[in-house]
Parts: sequence; C-alpha cells; structure tokens
Amino acid sequence: MSQVEVLKEVQSFTEEPKKMLINNEWVAASSGETFPVYNPATGAILAQVASGNEQDINMAVSAARKAFTGNDWHSMTPSNRGKLIWRLGDLIEQNLDELAQLESLDNGKPFSVARVADVPLAADLFRYMAGWATKIEGSTIPISTPNTAKSKHFAYTLREPVGVVGQIIPWNFPLLMAAWKLGPALATGCTIVLKPAEQTPLTALRLGELIVEAGFPAGVVNIVTGYGEAAGAPLAAHPDVDKIAFTGSTEVGKKIIDAAKGNLKKVTLELGGKSPNIIFGDANIKYATSAAANAIFFNHGQCCCAGSRLYIEKDIFEQVAEGVAARAKKIRLGAGMNQDTQMGPLVSDEQLNRVCSYLKSGLSEGAEALAGGKRHGEQGYFVEPTVLVKTKADMKVVQEEIFGPVVVAMPFDDMEEITSVANDTIYGLAAGIWTQDVSKAHRLAARIKAGTVWVNCYNVFDAAMPFGGYKQSGWGREMGEEALKLYTEVKSVCVQI
Ligand code: ADP
Repeated sequence: MSQVEVLKEVQSFTEEPKKMLINNEWVAASSGETFPVYNPATGAILAQVASGNEQDINMAVSAARKAFTGNDWHSMTPSNRGKLIWRLGDLIEQNLDELAQLESLDNGKPFSVARVADVPLAADLFRYMAGWATKIEGSTIPISTPNTAKSKHFAYTLREPVGVVGQIIPWNFPLLMAAWKLGPALATGCTIVLKPAEQTPLTALRLGELIVEAGFPAGVVNIVTGYGEAAGAPLAAHPDVDKIAFTGSTEVGKKIIDAAKGNLKKVTLELGGKSPNIIFGDANIKYATSAAANAIFFNHGQCCCAGSRLYIEKDIFEQVAEGVAARAKKIRLGAGMNQDTQMGPLVSDEQLNRVCSYLKSGLSEGAEALAGGKRHGEQGYFVEPTVLVKTKADMKVVQEEIFGPVVVAMPFDDMEEITSVANDTIYGLAAGIWTQDVSKAHRLAARIKAGTVWVNCYNVFDAAMPFGGYKQSGWGREMGEEALKLYTEVKSVCVQI
C-alpha cells in the first residue's frame, strides 16, 4: 500500500467516534459520552472515543464470563487456539504501516520507530505465545503416601486458565503493551477485558478489529475505552474478574491492589523504575556512551526501564557525560510523522508539565544541565533531551521516576560504592552494566536488585525473556514462560489406585 493510501486509511479510522468492543460487537458507551484523543505533536484533536464507565465494564465482564464458561473457547483445541493467536500476529504484520502511523499520531513516537519496534514486536509476541498454547502442561508428582496392596496414590497437576482477566495498560507503548498482556492470557485460554490508556486507545481499537477478523469467538477479548477512575477502577474492583494485570505508575498500582482486595483476585503489576546504567572505566567507552544516550532517550524517556540514573566511573566521568550531552544536543525533535524526526513530543500536556516541573526542581536545587533543561518550542508537548550533572543522591530528580528525556549523570569510585548507590532506590526494574571484565559484570549483575540486568547492551527485549520488577517496580513478570504461569491456576489431582 502506498503512503497516501495508508494515510487515508488512518484518517477514515479516526473520522467517526470510535466505539468499544464488547462480545465482538462495536458499541457506543452506555452513557453515550465520548472523550477526545489528541495528537501530541500539535495538541489538535485526533479522534473522539467512547467513554466507558462501570456499566460498560459490567457488560464486558459478563461477555468475558460467558465466553469463558461457554463452549466455543473452552472446547477449542490448544492447537486451534494457537492458530488463532498466530493469525493475529500475521494480521498485525499485514497492517504494519497503518498501525505504525496510528501509533505515531496517537502517542507521538516517530513512525520509523513504531514501524521497526512497536508493531513487529507485538506480532512476534503473539507468535511466541501461539506456540505455547499447546504446551501448557502440568506434571506427575511422586508422592510418599503408603504404597500397599490396598492403597496407592497417583498424583498429577493441571494448569488451568485463571478465568476472566482484567488488563489495564499505559500509553507509552500502546500496541505492544496490549500484546504483552493479551498474548499469555489467550495462550492459556483466559478471556479478557482490556482497558487501554485514555491518551492512546487507537491502536488497541484497531487491534480489536484484527481480533474479530482473526476469528476469535465472541467475548474472548473485550476492549473498553475510558478514563482510569471511570473504567479502570471498576474493572480492578469487579467481583467477577479473577485476575487483574496492570502496567502503569506505582501510585496507581497500589490503588489496583486495594481495589482487588474485595474478591482477592490475582494481581500482577508492572510499575515504575529509576534504573541505574553503570559504565566502568574499562568499557568500550564510545559504544557505551552512545548506548547510554539511547537508554534514556529511546521513546523520549517514556520507558519504565529507561536508564535514567547514569553512573560513570570517576576517571571517565567528564568524557562520557559530555559525550551523552553532545548526542542529546544533536537529536532532531519533531512530529512523529516527519521523516527526519528522531524524537517526538511527550504524550500529553500533563506529562509535559510533570517533566518540566522535575527540571525546575533539579535546576533550582543546584543541578546543572549539560544539555537541554527545558521545554522545546511552543506548540506540542516537546521537551529538550536533558543531561543533568552535579545532582545529589537525595534530590527528587535522582530518586523519582521522571518518565521523560532526562538523565542524571553521577560519578562513582568503585564496585562497593556502585552496588550500594545502584540499589538505593524504591524501584528494581532494570539496570545496565558496561565493562569488558566478565567477572565484574557477573558479580555486579548478581548483586543488583532488578528484574532485568543488561550487560554491554540496553533495552534488549524478547518475547521469550521475562520482564518485571523487584521492590516497588511490581509483582510478577511479563513475557516468557513466567508470564504464562501467572495466567493459570494449578490444580493437584490425587487419585487412589
Ligand atoms: P501514567 O501516570 O503513566 O499516565 P497511570 O498509572 O496513571 O500511568 O495509568 C496507566 C493506566 O491505568 C491507564 O490505562 C489509566 O487509565 C489507568 N488508571 C489510572 N487510574 C486508575 C485507577 N484508579 N484504577 C484503575 N486504572 C487506573
């Protein structure tokens, strides 16, 4: 398809108010209300979207329950379930350009990035999970009850789908986060109510169309759009939801735990981070410097695992900090759909204000900006890629998640010091280590309290590699076999034979 044809498709997709997907039907919100979705590069309204509330969540949950207990999904063979999930991966790939454009317009990220990262990774995730549908196995357990002529026991476990799952996702990787959530739930045979972020619901809705096109039975995937308090909160609290899976801020994650208490539904959470990226003097400095810039500036710093605390061994501190700053200054900012854009706007006015207030706080407390330090331009939600130095460990910019293109760079002396400062955070999502000394790398990797440690690389993701947090970065893991386990209940069956 030509660029113009794709653009036309995207325009026609956003022209009419967007409806929600419940029971394989596209419906308006029960209140009749819609909310605006903005293009963050201009602040202009991109689309109107159905504003779901508790009533819509109730309808979606009952559709999901009916699909879970009904025959179509339950009796589908694992092989056929796997085929459907694989087909969804194919459909995503076939609609690569359109999905990448929608993502770029809605979220602000460069089209070129969405095209090589977000969309293909979403397709990959579904294909990886498709393979698992036929491999959800229990085990046989050799138990030690008396083995006599009259009595012997045979024990085994079954892994069963947990049931109806509520999934609440953020705006930083809208399509990919939907895939991370839906993939393992579908592979294990759960049914789902998905609530995309209010800032970026468009690719999830397009994915809903592809889900229907792939042939998933009615009610298996329901997508309710709406605000967090209005639609997310009733989903987290719903008494007929068996599990809630959430990705977003640590603050809202704690609210999810409270809301989930009523029926003790299972909870998994992928939350914030303030990840240390550690460069030793014996690293490949040129490569590590450029990678440290990518570790923070990729996706405009709007990654929960962004390398936002850059620790540099004292001898090379100035060289590396200046190097990252030089790269920051060269980054071309612009609308995601402009061909030469390297960094787009932040997702919303709210995020712009939040990031700028962190910048003000850091600079007023004595930090110095080697690059950036303020808003870029007057239109859209752009922030200059920023490198802060001369920070202190207790400053807000060092302790709190900024979720923008802002890195704090700090020197360190030795292994003992860096182990302690790297772990001096309430978070534990990810870390980076740069050294050519293999022993040092493994020793430090073992001592860092984080769910992912990258050595001589950063932001490497794969559908097979579990991702998630220690400490206040969350509960449970996304992707890989670990994620599947969290969508199942284990049943022990003990038979006297
Ligand atoms: P951010 O701060 O990055 O916008 P949030 O944690 O606020 O991230 O939002 C992530 C997701 O959580 C979004 O889909 C949002 O609508 C939803 N959400 C926000 N508040 C609540 C809430 N009280 N209950 C359930 N979901 C919520």
